[in-house]
Amino acid sequence: MVDGKTTAETDQTATAVTGFAARPAINRVLDVPAEVTDQVRRVFPVQWPRYYLALAEQHGADSAVARMGKPQLSELVQDPGDIADPIADQRQRPVPFVVQKHADRVIILTTKKCHFYCRFCFRREEPVARAMEPTDADWETIFAFLRANPAIKEPILSGGDPLTLSDERLAWIRSNLERIPSVTHWRIHSRAPVHYPARVTPALVEALQGALPLRLMCHFNHADELTSAGRAGIARFQAAGLTVSNQAVLLNGVNDTLEAQTALWQGLAEIGVGAHHLHHPDRVTGNAPFRVTIAAGLALYRELCAVSVVKPPSYVLDLPDGCGKVPVRDLTRNDDGLYQYDHGDGHISQYQDWA
Ligand code: SF4
Repeated sequence: MVDGKTTAETDQTATAVTGFAARPAINRVLDVPAEVTDQVRRVFPVQWPRYYLALAEQHGADSAVARMGKPQLSELVQDPGDIADPIADQRQRPVPFVVQKHADRVIILTTKKCHFYCRFCFRREEPVARAMEPTDADWETIFAFLRANPAIKEPILSGGDPLTLSDERLAWIRSNLERIPSVTHWRIHSRAPVHYPARVTPALVEALQGALPLRLMCHFNHADELTSAGRAGIARFQAAGLTVSNQAVLLNGVNDTLEAQTALWQGLAEIGVGAHHLHHPDRVTGNAPFRVTIAAGLALYRELCAVSVVKPPSYVLDLPDGCGKVPVRDLTRNDDGLYQYDHGDGHISQYQDWA
């Protein structure tokens, strides 16, 4: 029971479930001592929507859903495999809040807020390090940057979760992007349909609709997240003509089995959500328990490709040197876990794996 509702009641009415669980309820459902949550949230926020906590309660304190948000003291410990700025996001910012690794697209860090804080998040160091979100002046700088760089066709709103912004703010961003002639489409990366499906309202969908084609990249990691409420949110986007795809992260103890991967991608295909990327986990400080090795991930991916009845995602590694995402199957292993990727232009990236 979460805040007076049974799990069954919560799932049935999930599209109407709003709000966030109180901390005692989080600790009880996840079976975490209060002092652990109190210590961990000083480093990275702990917040559970009531909807998603009911899902964790339904599946149990050791379930995939629970594990993705369960505070652990290991988050406070430096691991030898940690990489500061693990995908070079902080080194490739031509203007504040903009990450650029490719000529034709940029990521815009619209906010640091999320409905739920995934313990594996590769941007988990961001909230304590920088301002929460762009001011109006920052946005003017961002729009000016896009106007000055017409090769950029696709701005990607990321964060944090862009769908924590208000409908008005999102509509304002959209209308500004529409006035930049070189921008041909835009994209939003969000886990709101997963954690907080009540956010997917008709008003939100209307705010996002306009002259520019929009692609929503959602982030379901496990089939247990594909609830009736989550599916309804996706269907609402699709009914409005948005293209919806999914990217997931391969996570130890969450979805690193053939059964979990098959159920996830087949479940998504059944609701018309395309498979985009399966990300190898990025090694930010605090997420060590979620990591898998390249060898284990590749073995699982090969199995998935062999048995999957639907189109599997691309299994990718975002390189620590800032060269972007590359297919894991194209890495070559030298020795002692040192992998290389040949970009074909004389540059070779290296990746030291950790068992
Ligand atoms: S929703 Fe996305 S940005 Fe937010 S904590 Fe989870 S992975 Fe990180």
